[in-house]
Amino acid sequence: MTGRPRLRFAPSPTGHLHVGSARSALFNWLYARQAGGTFILRIEDTDQERSRPELVEAITSGMSWLGLDWDEGPYLQSQRGELHRAAADRLVAAGHAYWCDCTREQIEARTKGSATPGYDRHCRDRGLGPGPGRALRFRVPQEGTTVVADVVRGEPAFENSKIEDFVILKSNGAPVFILANVVDDVDMAVTHVVRGEDHLPNTPKYLLLWRALEGGPEPVFAHLPLLVNERRQKLSKRRDPVFVERYREEGYLPEAMVNYLALLGWSPPDGREILTRDELVAAFRLEDVVSSPAFFDVKKLRHFDGEHIRALPVDEFVERARPWLVAPAAPWPPDRFDEAAFRRMAPLVQERVFVLSEVPAMVDFLFLEDPVIDARAWERRVERGQSAPELLDAAMAAYDAAPTWEASPLHQVTAQLAEEHGLGLAKAQFPIRVAVTGRDVGPPLFESLEVLGRERTLERLRVARARLAPSPR
Ligand code: GLU
Ligand code: ZN
Repeated sequence: MTGRPRLRFAPSPTGHLHVGSARSALFNWLYARQAGGTFILRIEDTDQERSRPELVEAITSGMSWLGLDWDEGPYLQSQRGELHRAAADRLVAAGHAYWCDCTREQIEARTKGSATPGYDRHCRDRGLGPGPGRALRFRVPQEGTTVVADVVRGEPAFENSKIEDFVILKSNGAPVFILANVVDDVDMAVTHVVRGEDHLPNTPKYLLLWRALEGGPEPVFAHLPLLVNERRQKLSKRRDPVFVERYREEGYLPEAMVNYLALLGWSPPDGREILTRDELVAAFRLEDVVSSPAFFDVKKLRHFDGEHIRALPVDEFVERARPWLVAPAAPWPPDRFDEAAFRRMAPLVQERVFVLSEVPAMVDFLFLEDPVIDARAWERRVERGQSAPELLDAAMAAYDAAPTWEASPLHQVTAQLAEEHGLGLAKAQFPIRVAVTGRDVGPPLFESLEVLGRERTLERLRVARARLAPSPR
């Protein structure tokens, strides 16, 4: 191929940005960026009934969030009807298309029980002209095969005799999807068509149209493998979390999402899994895409997100977490948020969360007046915890007397009183942690106490102690 590659993402605005579509967009984008090519965004909104204009914005905002910037577009296919109709005229003039006045009922009546379903080419040689109620059909050659040059799937061949003379203009004059799709790809000089495998069966029609339109060098195809859920079923909008928007709202990082999406059907030969955007651009090869279905595993995505969170510089982590720390997302009153206190905890929090929306629960004990006590943790770790009243009493005394309020001496005195009660340090921390933070998981306890301060720590221990029955002495 000569010249720079031109690739396009051509979503239909019939839903929010689906992870499968986002994966297609990404693979096109990666290839274009690596090859110094052009990435085009084309909105295929010819289906007036199913397309919703407001979804165009949902798709572009999802792409922007993922960092998939486009060089041309967004083109709206619905505004290119002239071009599509002109192409149809050319096809008629060249004998590649003919008018058909058959109704669906007539076709069904004629083909009932026939071995080859679909249109029976009834009007092929009737020489009809255009007119109301007449659709335009493509004259599919009856001999030979059409071979798709597919980087992922080799060269699947389709027998032309099994392809029906498909409609390209509906009887109301509207161009059919496949016509608009091919005419636009010809017009935009697309060199690579990278899209979901659900489009493979239509590709012979695509190629026949391309050739009939004298579209020049044919594009290379890459039909990407299906995405499936843990039951190996095609992802379903109803059962599975399939919209990119949802991951954005839950606090996933776009770079983690991009990293994970890139591995759905592709992987670098060296087996690396966690890659930055630049590393992906450098390593991506269409030739390394596989054809077998790819499992969209939310657990794995979550793991990737944790890895990318840990890779952020702390300051960057603080910035990314900010939307979750301020109104309306934050669970504390806005004036109680203390940025400096959060910054002190940030490196510890960063080690422990998988998605940003988990950050508030790690630090809410700092910014709420009283900790929200998790009932299960309270029951398990305090009420039924070993020596909890004694431990709380001892901790209050020791913390009250601590010469400096810092994590490491607090650690030391706590280890000591754990030993006095015949407990391991981990166990002894539980009633203290629940009393002070309300939970039995969270960032390291002694750093948490340090940041919370002596007064607030002692007060919370007192409140918890009072909630417990007096210890037998
Ligand atoms: N508009 C089609 C879709 O959203 C994509 C067609 C293509 O990529 O060629 O499924
Ligand atoms: Zn007909």
